[in-house]
Amino acid sequence: MKIMKFGGTSVGKPERMHQVKDLITRDDQRKIVVLSALSGTTNALVSIGEALADAKKDLAKERIDSLHQHYLTFYKELLTTDAARSKAENIIKEHFEFLNIILKISFNEAINRDILAQGELLSTKLFYTLLQELGIEAVFLPALDFMSIDENSEPELKKIAEKLKLILANYPGERIFVTQGYICKNHRNEVDNLKRGGSDYSASLIGAAINADVVEIWTDIDGMHNNDPRVVEKTRPIAQLSFDEAAELAYFGAKILHPASIWPAQQYNIPVKLLNTMEPDAAGTTITGKEQGTGVKALAAKDGITAIKIKSSRMLLAYGFLRKVFEVFEKYKTSIDMITTSEVAVSVTIDDLSHLAEIVKELEAYGLVEVDKNQTIISVVGNMIAESEGTLAKIMNSLNAYPIRMVSYGGSRHNVSLLLDAQFKNNALKSLNEGLFEW
Ligand code: ASP
Ligand code: MG
Repeated sequence: MKIMKFGGTSVGKPERMHQVKDLITRDDQRKIVVLSALSGTTNALVSIGEALADAKKDLAKERIDSLHQHYLTFYKELLTTDAARSKAENIIKEHFEFLNIILKISFNEAINRDILAQGELLSTKLFYTLLQELGIEAVFLPALDFMSIDENSEPELKKIAEKLKLILANYPGERIFVTQGYICKNHRNEVDNLKRGGSDYSASLIGAAINADVVEIWTDIDGMHNNDPRVVEKTRPIAQLSFDEAAELAYFGAKILHPASIWPAQQYNIPVKLLNTMEPDAAGTTITGKEQGTGVKALAAKDGITAIKIKSSRMLLAYGFLRKVFEVFEKYKTSIDMITTSEVAVSVTIDDLSHLAEIVKELEAYGLVEVDKNQTIISVVGNMIAESEGTLAKIMNSLNAYPIRMVSYGGSRHNVSLLLDAQFKNNALKSLNEGLFEW
């Protein structure tokens, strides 16, 4: 079986949904189709939740009505027969009645997660109605029947696999299954989700759960590019990446793939393909366990980074200093991206600032603390970078004009990370693009 996941823009317009239908019926292979919400819907649902959290019911109602309007236009363009249209009307009615009922009850976090789930429920039900209208045989597979997370919000892959296999065993002859990305049940059996952008993660978990042949992630770009196409003019898709390289790129800013979606595929060695709905025959990017090629393959940048330096003369010849520093971050569940050390100081970077004040206060017990906000990590990713001659020199030469705050080299053979002030990011990416790639 294979997994085909389509993101918000791939289902965001009626004609795009028709294209998805074409793509999933191109071959006879059994497949689970994982859909995101229509583009813009999850943002709208988030903003409805925010209005309710602020007790602004009128604003929430306004936002619900405007989203409702969007769906009323959408289904009329999507479907043509009276039977299918009346099904769609009922679906839309059901979900917007639900949202309107929420206006009348007292709001809490569990209800908020219910609100967020409406997007994927709507997109999959409307898509399924389209398949029915066209007489395309398919099974509707509610993700809430099998997708679950534990009390730490970690997916329960074993349980997911067991449930999914039982469900699929009921449909031995069926070829197409349609399910929701993003949504799941939590350990309290409430509706929950895999965080923003989590549909990729759903697809990869489902792929791992059923040991799929391949997980295809369909978006509106022809694979992962060697640099940020929004910043740099000349970029090209990367044909092949290893799981480790893809994880570094996804984590350090390549927006095309949710970083968490790598591990399930990697663990079960299931190839992940990044494909383009607008150009379905383009090769895209294939991510596998194989390490191929030598040298730099791509750059990615991650914004919103804060560097924290702890300087202590007591670190000199002291053991246990790093442990104490790291324990502070652990206590506040704040993960560290980059680390560099000297004999008298250690610098780390974080991107979650929710506990910055407490962290700084506790670190001050160990030395002088300095904080630099608005930093960017530029990550240079490839295979055997450390072994490939001259790469580090090329990186440094390209960045001659910019002050580099931190460098992390040798942590893995796939990555060199550099920290710069965010103001230098775009130019640094451009210089590196010229300095590192043959054009
Ligand atoms: N609809 C969700 C979001 O916008 C999940 C996803 O699309 O991956 O974050
Ligand atoms: Mg996405």
